[in-house]
Amino acid sequence: MRQATVYIDREALQYNLNRVKQLAPTAQIVSMVKANAYGHGVKDCLAALGDTDAFGVACLEEALEIRELGYQQPITLIEGIFSEDEMQVVVENNIECVVHHQQQLDWLRAHKARYIGKNLKVWVKLNSGMNRLGFKVPEIIEVINSLKAEGFTCVLAMHFANADADHPLNEQQKSQFLQVKQACAPVMGSCCNSAAIYKWPELNFDFVRPGIMLYGASPFADKSVHDLDLKPVMTFSAEIIALNHIQAGEHVGYGSTFTADKEMNLAIVSIGYGDGYPRAFPKQNYVSIKGQATRVIGRVAMDMIAIDVTGIDAPLGTEVELWGKDRLVDDVAEANGTIGYELLCRLSPRPIRK
Ligand SMILES: *Cc1c(COP(=O)(O)O)cnc(C)c1O
Repeated sequence: MRQATVYIDREALQYNLNRVKQLAPTAQIVSMVKANAYGHGVKDCLAALGDTDAFGVACLEEALEIRELGYQQPITLIEGIFSEDEMQVVVENNIECVVHHQQQLDWLRAHKARYIGKNLKVWVKLNSGMNRLGFKVPEIIEVINSLKAEGFTCVLAMHFANADADHPLNEQQKSQFLQVKQACAPVMGSCCNSAAIYKWPELNFDFVRPGIMLYGASPFADKSVHDLDLKPVMTFSAEIIALNHIQAGEHVGYGSTFTADKEMNLAIVSIGYGDGYPRAFPKQNYVSIKGQATRVIGRVAMDMIAIDVTGIDAPLGTEVELWGKDRLVDDVAEANGTIGYELLCRLSPRPIRK
């Protein structure tokens, strides 16, 4: 069988969840498992995230998958519902909604009695300058205060545009959040993703929403998962399926873009963009063989790559780590000009999941 495999380390996931608990001991943890748990596979991840207080997903289908797997924790739809008929399903399955515009408020109010009857919280989204979703100040104050007066339990929710960086917008977002929280007191609050959990412990409030850190990738460009004391959860690997010895001047792969400058040993590995491994690498990319970094040479094809194994003991069948504990996904992403999040999410269905 072609070996292109995704292995999920559940203990690493539990370890990372515990890191969230250490960093935000008084907050409840809403584990973000949208996009099939950032490409890791929701089923495996939920099994390791049993201790989480709640889950966050991007749509009703993702929430229902969690219910079908038998998990009873609260689930938040971070973009709310997309049409009124979803409200029925939401209430039946004890799912909580973000509301970020007037139409969603109308839908919520139309189902008020059942929603409140199930003790479901409403997550009211503040647009404090990211300008994606939410009500602005001062409108949101009016929205939350009237929802409270109608009997709803509200959580003031916000998302940082630059939690991973120093940016002047951070101060504006923080101060608007605090202003609204005060004007609507008492109201629960939630504004921290992974980066914010690390950076602003004072903003953990009632619910933190870790995503990428759970999976053992870094939200920061300048801090590795080792710096953050996180463990990579996914190991993406493949096998050496052919070996070639080439002379100086010979080329490798499509477009013959690589030319050997000396004699070398090449290995062909059964991975390609058909598996979700990126094709374009503006910077030199590497894979790891038993902890030893070796370069990828020539173009990435749909099913294969070539690597330099000169001086490395790597017979046929040797396992090659594309990303995982040795070759960090964040470093592959950097060479690819993107972020770890994207590489993890865009794996194709082809690799075998172990
Ligand atoms: C995806 C998401 C998160 C998690 O962000 P990470 O950077 O992965 O920790 C938190 N909150 C919201 C609203 C999100 O959409």
